[in-house]
Order: sequence, then structure tokens, then C-alpha cells
Amino acid sequence: MSKWVYSFGAGGAEGRAELRDLLGGKGANLAEMSLLGLAVPPGFTISTEVCSYYYLHDRRYPDGLADQVGAALGQIEAGVEARLGDPERPLLVSIRSGAPLSMPGMMDTVLNLGLNDRTVEGLAASGQPRFAYDSYRRFIQMYGDVVLGVDHYLFEDQLDEIKRQNGCQLDTDLATDDLVRLIEAYQAIVREQTDAPFPQDVQEQLWGAIGAVFGSWMTPRAVTYRRLHGIDEAMGTAVNVQAMVFGNRGDSSATGVAFTRDPSTGDKRYYGEFLVNAQGEDVVSGIRTPQPLTLAMKQVTNARLPAMEEVMPEAYAELAQVFERLEAHYRDMQDIEFTVQEGRLWILQTRNGKRTTHAALKIAVDMANEGLIGQDDAIARIEPASLDQLLHPTLDPDAPREVIAKGLPASPGAVSGKVVFNADEAERLATMGEAVILVRVETSPEDIHGMHAAKGILTSRGGMTSHAAVVARGMGKPCVCAAADLAIDYRRQLFSAGKREVAAGEVITLDGGNGTVMLGAVPTVDPKLSGDFATLMGWADEHRRLGVRANAETPLDARTARRFGAEGIGLCRTEHMFFEDVRLVAMREMILADDADGRRVALARILPMQRQDFIELFEIMAGLPVTIRLLDPPLHEFLPHEPEEIEALAKASGLEAAALQRRANELREVNPMLGLRGCRLGVLFPEIYEMQTRAIFEAVAAVAASSGQTVVPEIMVPLVGTARELELIKAEIDAVAKEVMAEGGTGLTYQVGTMIEVPRAALRAREVAEHAQFFSFGTNDLTQMTLGLSRDDSAKFMELYLQRKIFPADPFSTLDIDGVGALVELACEQGRAGRPDLKLGICGEHGGDPRTIAFCERVGLDYVSCSPYRVPIARLAAAQATLGSCAAMASTV
Ligand code: PEP
Ligand code: MG
Repeated sequence: MSKWVYSFGAGGAEGRAELRDLLGGKGANLAEMSLLGLAVPPGFTISTEVCSYYYLHDRRYPDGLADQVGAALGQIEAGVEARLGDPERPLLVSIRSGAPLSMPGMMDTVLNLGLNDRTVEGLAASGQPRFAYDSYRRFIQMYGDVVLGVDHYLFEDQLDEIKRQNGCQLDTDLATDDLVRLIEAYQAIVREQTDAPFPQDVQEQLWGAIGAVFGSWMTPRAVTYRRLHGIDEAMGTAVNVQAMVFGNRGDSSATGVAFTRDPSTGDKRYYGEFLVNAQGEDVVSGIRTPQPLTLAMKQVTNARLPAMEEVMPEAYAELAQVFERLEAHYRDMQDIEFTVQEGRLWILQTRNGKRTTHAALKIAVDMANEGLIGQDDAIARIEPASLDQLLHPTLDPDAPREVIAKGLPASPGAVSGKVVFNADEAERLATMGEAVILVRVETSPEDIHGMHAAKGILTSRGGMTSHAAVVARGMGKPCVCAAADLAIDYRRQLFSAGKREVAAGEVITLDGGNGTVMLGAVPTVDPKLSGDFATLMGWADEHRRLGVRANAETPLDARTARRFGAEGIGLCRTEHMFFEDVRLVAMREMILADDADGRRVALARILPMQRQDFIELFEIMAGLPVTIRLLDPPLHEFLPHEPEEIEALAKASGLEAAALQRRANELREVNPMLGLRGCRLGVLFPEIYEMQTRAIFEAVAAVAASSGQTVVPEIMVPLVGTARELELIKAEIDAVAKEVMAEGGTGLTYQVGTMIEVPRAALRAREVAEHAQFFSFGTNDLTQMTLGLSRDDSAKFMELYLQRKIFPADPFSTLDIDGVGALVELACEQGRAGRPDLKLGICGEHGGDPRTIAFCERVGLDYVSCSPYRVPIARLAAAQATLGSCAAMASTV
């Protein structure tokens, strides 16, 4: 017969810490603590398998469960010499949920079960009537709320009423008689609300509570919590039934919660609170002000009430020993619940404590230095994505705020500024020293200067890899995308969000870490990259195999990338360099020219500027590898759209406005992302890539001449679908290299490679590799083309797709390993079969995603490249991937 129930207590247990999936976190740790010989009230755990059975079988229990529960209950009864329902010596039990991953406050608990009108008398006769009736009124309230579904405020109103009648401030001030009256009133409420008396049968109470805990696994709030935290629904919860110990048995009793280290700073000092003469829920509910655990905490918090260390020195000393013991055993900071019953200490729960990222770093580094854990454990303990919190300013957690809209958390950080609706205005105000937030329906490359000038970016459309999101992340600027509630009216220069209207010039705050938009300026706090951060990153670097580069094109990006530890540039998107005023005019002239000669004239004006861009990048990167991608986007992105722009261009270039308009119309495409872009530009207009390649080689020569630094540029061709495309373009690159070498009389070393972002290139990687020294997976486009899913439009239905489990995660954030990943893997194998020393990297947005990085490690890429602000995340995730730790796999981003 299957085993459904696992007992613990009195120094023994059928379970242990490793059986977390079966017994839930709480049950597994109760068993473990019992095995350690700690004072754990006896009890048993009904396994998570029962929960799965229950939901698979129309909320019925498996055969044999009732017998096993009966037998385990018998063991508790024998251990404490009391029986459930016995009027003389009644046993009271607690019923608590406990899932394998903690879901704090999401599921139900019932305490003091086993009380009824008769057993309460028996308990009262043991000498403490007040305690007995206090426990009974608590039980009716909790059971009524959790199991019978009676609104808890009905009970609370009644309690307030009785306190008012008696002139009491606190519930501890109520006398026994008052409690008896309260119980009668509570029973009347239950009768009225449920059309039945409060259940007196203790078995009915027990199974009612067990059913309520299993039932709470599927409440909407638990379902939402799991979805937000990526917790698998199939896991189920366990149910723990345990003999009650009482913190409300007079002034030598107490209950509390403690952390073995400070969960907000990570400092090595006990941290916690307790209440004399109270039960657990009183500490968290805020009914009474809890007291500090230690004298040190009392001083820090200026608490008026005495510390446990003062009022219960013996129990405190014993508790401190338990802290040491548990922390050493679990080798992690513990969050512990305890009760003191008439001077005797009981431990009710331990688990790894939740902590801020700052505290997590300090605790991991301290514990490694203390020798409690190894460096590899310390690396595994930090969730890479959480580092984000440390790298950007964040909202002051104590500051009040008014949220007016919500969108996608596209680029983290918090920022306030005046609303502006166009890029030129953003630039104008920024040069006057104003902090501005650029608010657009969506952004395009034409807005780049405004994005640079703005402190933050807000759009009402577009997804996590939309232009706004990618560019903002690259710039390390906070960005909220796809705030669908926002109705932007450019004409009236305002946006509305619900009932609010916000005009240009009004101040808003963005939190790009959670996608919220707030009215007014909410204060922020600056990031502090503490010594612990640097220490842990150093350890990560020692352990990782994958290289980490950054996607960067501006000097600012490149410097940021280096500050965060990038080992090179994996993607320099050259098109971003063309959007500044003078260049844009030259670029537009080039595009609108009728023939190659006309294009060459315009390109010749761009060449020196482009060369200077590369010189600066090479100088900043000081010999580290730099991958430069030749022009990629559809040319129409550079075109003037408004009649005024066409006029201005006509004036600047001396061309006819009508001719310009005609040419612009000719260049418009129905489906530009699949049109004239990427290497097709190079095939149609070879002079563009010729100019760029020359600029690269001349910059290499200039840097060699000025600083003696040897740069080996990696020239990357975008959107290649066939080997022949690359062959043609590579031949042109080689020809330019020869020319520049001949002109300068010096040698040049360079590499030519390609993006793999068209599925065909992945499928024919062996042939493509004949012409490529490296591949860099452009997984943004590769995802778009493999899934047939527009990267700019998917946000509209992504949420539903995730809810319906069509995608396990947004495929533009975490690589679709089964689909796109299969192409990547194939391309790696085939590419290396064609050229064994082929260098392999990834430069799509996925390059900074911890789960994707674990995949990149598995398929043997050489490096990942991501936006500068994600470089530390990638360094840590890469180390975890090398160490094979599961933290990267389990992290929810
Ligand atoms: C990609 O497609 O993954 C990529 C890096 O290029 P871009 O985002 O510039 O299209
Ligand atoms: Mg691309």
C-alpha cells in the first residue's frame, strides 16, 4: 500500500530535509529538525502526492489515507498523553500547508483544532481557564474563516465590540467571562452564516481543515502567485498536522519569528520579534506591537518594550544555540518560528530566509569566508537576475506613490522627469538641463537622439524586444513598454491613463523594474556596488567558461560595458551611429541618390565620422575584441516621413523635393523586416559596406599608429540566409582590406563572420561556415522568423499565450530551447563540422538571460553578448552554468 503519511517528533522522523518535493518545505524541515534532536512538537505530514491525487480524482482522497492519518494521530496522542476530542485531556493540533517552494501567506492554516464545547472545559479544568477560552475563540474564528468561509471581519467586529464594551485596548485585557461571551457570539455568527452549528465533532473538524488546506492550493491568489513566480502547479502542497504548543499560556509563554542574520542588510546578527502571551498569528497580524529579540536590536530600533534577551534570558540563550545549530546544519541563513510554552522552547519551523539582493551577496560572501560554504555554493546562492536591483537606482521603498499605468518592465531602473512627446523636444529640454521622460506610442531609430537625451522612455506599444526596449536596455535607461492603458494624443500634447490626464511638462516617474508609471517625482536611492558584489563577481569570473561581451556602439555604452566587466563587444549595431543630425542628412542623401555615384558622394561624407566612431570604440576597448555589424535595418527607417522633413532635406542637399518624395515612395516596403535589409543591402548597394569596411580598417590603422594597440576587428554580416550571400560580401571586404593595406603599407588582421538569424542559415550552417570565421546567433530575428512571430507586435497576445501555457516563457526573453534552440544547436554542430575553429557567440537579447545562458553553456558557445547593464548578470549566470548549479535554471526573470 502506498505511503501517504510521514510522522515526526520525539527525536525521530520518517522524513528528512531531502524529501522536500514529497513533504513540502515545512514538513521536510520539521522531520529534519526532529532528527537533529531539537524540540519539535510531534506531528505528521500528509504528502504532496495526496494533493496531486486529490485534484486528479475530483477532490477525493486515496484509499488508505484515513487509516494512516488515524495511526499517525495515535502516535502523537501517545507522545503527549492527550487525545483528540478527549474531554479530560484534549489534544489540540495545528493544520498547516507546506509546498515544496515557499509561497508565504498564500495558503491556509488552522490552529487550536480539537476544541469544542466539551474539550474547552477539560482544558480549562487543567488550571488555566482564560487560556482555554482564548484558544477556543481563536479556533472558531480561524476555522470559521478558513474552512467554513465566514467573512473574518464579522468576527473581528464582534471582538472590537466586546473590547469596547469592556473598555479594553488589547485582547489580552479581556477576562475569561468576556471570552465566554465572545465564543457564544462567534457561534451565533457561524450558525447564521452557514445555517449549521459550529462543528463539535473533532474528526469532522480535522478532515474539514485538511480539505481546506488542499483546497487553498487552487485559490486564485495561490494560482496567481505561482504564475508570477514560475512555480509548477503539479507540485501540490503537503499538509502538516502537529500537536499545538501554546505561546498564550500566561507571561512565561511567548511566540516569535527570527532570522539568523539580518535579512535586509545581511549583517551577522540575530534579527526577529516576539510577543509574550500570544499565538503566532498575533506577531504577523500587527494586533500588538511585537518586541525585539535582542538588546542590540532594541537599541537600533529604539524599541520601548524589553527584548526577549532581557525578559526570558534562559529561553533566549537556548534559542540562540538553536540558531547556530540550524544555520550550521543548513549552511544558510534561517527564518525560524518558535514558541515558548511556560518557559520551555519549541521550534515550529525553519526555512532558508528570504532576503534582499544586497543581503544575499553579503551572506554568501561572509559564509564562504567563514568556511561554512564553498565559493561555488556562494555563486549558486545568488539569483543572477536579482543583481539588476543593485545596478540601477531604485525607488525609495518608503516613498508614497500614485501608480497611473502599468506596462512591460522593459529596462530596469527608476527615474523621474518631465513628460515630452517628441525626440527633438527631449533633446532641447535636456540641453537646458531638464530631466525628461520621452513618451511615444512606439520609438523608431529616428528617436535615438531623444532617447539619448531622455532619462527614461515610456511607450504604449511594442514588446520586450521592441526598438524602445532594446535601445533603452543598451543605454541602461529605465523603460516601460506597452503600457496599454495609455492613450497618447500627440496633437494635444497629453496622454490619458484611466481618468488621469498628463500634459507635456508634467512630472512622472517610471519604474522599469516592474513596469509601473507613477504621477509626480518619487524619490530614488542610488546603487551601491559594495565590496561583496565585487568579491562575488571575481569568484564568478574564476569559475566560468563562457566569455561575456556587451552589445554596445556608443562610447558611453562601451565604457559602461567595461566597468561592468565585459570582455569585448559582441555586437556594435552601426545603424545606431547614423541618426545624429549631420549624419542623418548624409545618410538620407545616400539613400535617395539615383545611382551608385550619387551614393558614393554621400558615403564619402560619412566615412570620416564612421572612422572616428570606430577609433573611439577601439581605444576604449583597448585591444579587447570588437565585433562590428555592417548596416542592417531597412533603409526606409532613415527616410524622412513628414513633408517638412522632405523640405528640409531638399534644402540641405539641393535636390528637388518632389524627386525626393518619389524616391522615398519607391523605397517603402509592405514588409520591411523581410525586405531590403541586412546583407541584401550589401548585395544591392556594395558601396555602403565598402565605406563601412574602409572606416573599420582605417580606424584599426589609426589606433595602431597612435597608440601601438593592435586591434583585430571582427566584421559581421547581418541577415545572411545563403552561403553565397556571405561569399560575395566577404570578397568585397577582403578587397577593401587589400586596398587599405596597400595604401598604408602595413598588414591588417581581421575576421569576417556572420549573424545567424535566418533559419535557413542555421540549417545550412556547414556551407555558411566555409566563408565565416565566427557565427553570432541573432536570436531576436531568429526567434521572430522561426516562430513566425513579430518581435514588435507579440506583446498584445503574449500574456494570454503564457497563461494558456502555449509558451513556457516569453520566447523573446528566454530562448525557445525546443524550437529556436534546436536550430542553434544544429548550426553549432554543422558549423564546427565545416570549420573546427569556428568561434560561436550569441548577441540577441537572450544573451543576458540566465536560462538561455545555461543552454549556451550546454551547446558549447564561446561567449554571450548582452546589453552592458546585463553583463554582471551574464557573468554570474555563466559561472552557475559552468558549475552546473540549478540556480540559473530555477531563476524566474
Ligand atoms: C538579433 O536579431 O538577434 C540581433 C541581435 O539583431 P537586431 O536585434 O539588431 O535585429
Ligand atoms: Mg537581427
